[in-house]
Amino acid sequence: MKPSLPRIEISLDKINENSRILSELYQKKGISLMGVSKAVLGEPSIINEMVQGGVKYIADSRIENIQKLKSVGIISQYVLMRTALSQAESVVELVNISLNTELETVKKLSYYANLKNKHHKIIIMVEMGDLREGILPSDLSFFIRQALNLPNIEIEGIGCNLACQRGIRPDVNNMTELSDLAIAIEKEFNISLNIVSGGNSANYEWYNSVSDVGRINNLRVGESILLGCETADRTNILGLNTQAFLLVGEVIENKTKPSMPYGTVCQNAFDDLPETVDRGLEKRAIVALGRQDCLVSGMKSVDGMEILGSSSDHIILNANEHDLQIGDEVKFSLNYGALLAAMTSPYVRKKYLNHESKFMKST
Ligand SMILES: *Cc1c(COP(=O)(O)O)cnc(C)c1O
Repeated sequence: MKPSLPRIEISLDKINENSRILSELYQKKGISLMGVSKAVLGEPSIINEMVQGGVKYIADSRIENIQKLKSVGIISQYVLMRTALSQAESVVELVNISLNTELETVKKLSYYANLKNKHHKIIIMVEMGDLREGILPSDLSFFIRQALNLPNIEIEGIGCNLACQRGIRPDVNNMTELSDLAIAIEKEFNISLNIVSGGNSANYEWYNSVSDVGRINNLRVGESILLGCETADRTNILGLNTQAFLLVGEVIENKTKPSMPYGTVCQNAFDDLPETVDRGLEKRAIVALGRQDCLVSGMKSVDGMEILGSSSDHIILNANEHDLQIGDEVKFSLNYGALLAAMTSPYVRKKYLNHESKFMKST
């Protein structure tokens, strides 16, 4: 028999609702959404809810995820957000649009598109200060001139990514700069850009603070849909569900013990600091969940129990205010890092709640 714990419970109706609310919100100022599927490993039942909820595109960094989604028949416009030279052939085969920053790679895409008699669309990513992917704004004109000469390549638009690497905030300055670049490029080459993709879940506050979004007409949004928050300050977005994902573990020990360790001190398994505050005796519960299942620092007990410590297979909770029994289930909400880890751990079962979907396959 397969154990049912630990498991991640996924409320499909909440993901559907978040997708719908965000799609409608951003549409008010003419911004379409790419639903980003990478944090949930392109799980078809989850991504299906994004599509049903109204996102116009599905975007992922990993082509394997897109391949999986297409193979089970989820219909959308697929966007690859991280393009590698070595994958050029499958990129042309599998996705409609790819994000690019290297001419060498675009040339390879052109080669295969030509060979397969296909047209491949690219979005050129521009550096706006966060120092991850992007060509320098001063190189954009040259890049576009070269790309326009490549057979079977269509320039679908430009974009930028902020807040991921150095935590640079999307604001009026960088968004106006991107918008102005789009306008300048359209004028210089007499082309029209279909997509000007201004960023990700961190763009929410910028969006709300401006009445005119300029030429920005697209965002690529993962965390907001999945966890209901924006990501510049990690505040919850009003009206969105923040607990579409809950990690559930089982209580395997529950005892009153001293809060101070005793004996002489050496390193622990993870080389971090042991607890040092003496709170006298306390009720300490152990949950059969650990760092091999999740990023413990990104977990929060739904019932407000403090996490006192963790190792690879154990989490220790302060259960003073709780009457836990052996075998009880304890639930945790997750931040982005914890969601990523739980979805990726082979030990965590996935259980889908609240929606009938032909793609639903709990593990
Ligand atoms: C991951 C990623 C996103 C989505 O980010 P969220 O914070 O989850 O909205 C958007 N764009 C790019 C290029 C990404 O790699």
